[in-house]
Amino acid sequence: MEFHVPNTVSFHLSLLILVAWSSVQASHSSSLSSSAAETISRFQHYLQINTSQPTPNYYQASDFLVSQAKSSSLQSQAIEFVRGKPFVLIKWPGTNPHLPSILLYSHTDVVPSEIDKWKYDPFSAHIDDNGNIYARGSQDMKCVGMQYLEAVRRLKASGLQPLRSIYLAFSPDEEIGGQDGAAKFAESEVFKSLNIGVVLDEGMASADENYRIFYAERSARWLVIKAIGQPGHGSRLYDNSAAENMMKSLESIRRFRASQFDMIKAGLMAEGEVISVNMAYSTAGTPSPTGFVMNLQPSEAEVGFDIRVPPTADLESLERRIADEWAPASRNMTFRFLAKAPVHDEFGNPFTTKTDSSNPWWGLLQDAIQRAGGKLHEPGIFPASTDSRYFRRLGLPAFGFSPMANTPILLHDHNEFLNQEVYLKGITMYESIIKAYASYVENEGNRASTGDL
Ligand SMILES: [Zn+2]
Repeated sequence: MEFHVPNTVSFHLSLLILVAWSSVQASHSSSLSSSAAETISRFQHYLQINTSQPTPNYYQASDFLVSQAKSSSLQSQAIEFVRGKPFVLIKWPGTNPHLPSILLYSHTDVVPSEIDKWKYDPFSAHIDDNGNIYARGSQDMKCVGMQYLEAVRRLKASGLQPLRSIYLAFSPDEEIGGQDGAAKFAESEVFKSLNIGVVLDEGMASADENYRIFYAERSARWLVIKAIGQPGHGSRLYDNSAAENMMKSLESIRRFRASQFDMIKAGLMAEGEVISVNMAYSTAGTPSPTGFVMNLQPSEAEVGFDIRVPPTADLESLERRIADEWAPASRNMTFRFLAKAPVHDEFGNPFTTKTDSSNPWWGLLQDAIQRAGGKLHEPGIFPASTDSRYFRRLGLPAFGFSPMANTPILLHDHNEFLNQEVYLKGITMYESIIKAYASYVENEGNRASTGDL
């Protein structure tokens, strides 16, 4: 792998120009220092690059990220595991290359926006009078990617020499499943050569003052059930029509869904701890020029569900339920899965990251956040999917953390925003975390590193 070393002279020059420029531009963030205003303006720049699926401008994003790496004299490269989808890898080399490295992971793509439902253009990165930065990706997750860069920039400027190498990865395609992004990276020779010991990836905003951290995530099961039966006149009551059998299933699925949701409503379970079932589509009926034939009972009905299972769920019992109650062959029903992500390894160990004393990275993370003045909720299970799954499947510890407290959860929503103060505070969290991770030596590694130094 070839990393190129940037020209530090031009870096200093461009920084001077940037400082001069940003002091003029910082009008609506007058409460910020000039260096903070400059930091916010770099974040805005990244947000203004339209990396919205399904046609993300990946090259513009990767050029920007590489230029950011250069301006901090960091090694960088854009790798195309898949043509047209650059994956940016930035390296801050550690003084002991034998120790496992740290991976600070983020994705560059964002979900589409319904522009007319937004107060401001989702790629304007407009800052309102409250300091809220409106942009698609402001929470999910360009904030985190830039915060890593800013934290590294500051630590490097402070003279810190990391013991372990720090890698920043900016991956394409997370929002469409990560097949051409994280999946390709995780199975690559490049990945193996990095000798990664721990991964940080995205989490979620927290409406209160405590940050949320995730040690696992639910897995998607996309279920399609189909009923077939005798067609008949719309006026007739008879048994075993496709629609009648489908209605029985829907009743049963709705009861199960309610039982899961009730546990959340009662405060007994968090969202990530229950099995969610939501209808994605339903098709049945005989089309007519004006819609559907209304006096005809159809011979087929099909319904699709998005199901999310926590890593600890009893999957056998869920599949039995599907076979016996939701799509029983006795009612002329069949089912199939369009997606069925694994939840555990071949030995039945769930893909979770330990949050106890057996995992030193957990203690370091907690302490580092608290030392920087952050407060934490109990660690939880991320309710949806992230690219962390590709790393947890390899047996690597991975934490989902986006430092956004006192912030409404707006990922994938209209008017996604992040307050500039929250963003800046997040950088100090990462400074603390990266410092702790970069300097960490196990007892074993301690002896080894003493020899190297
Ligand atoms: Zn995301």
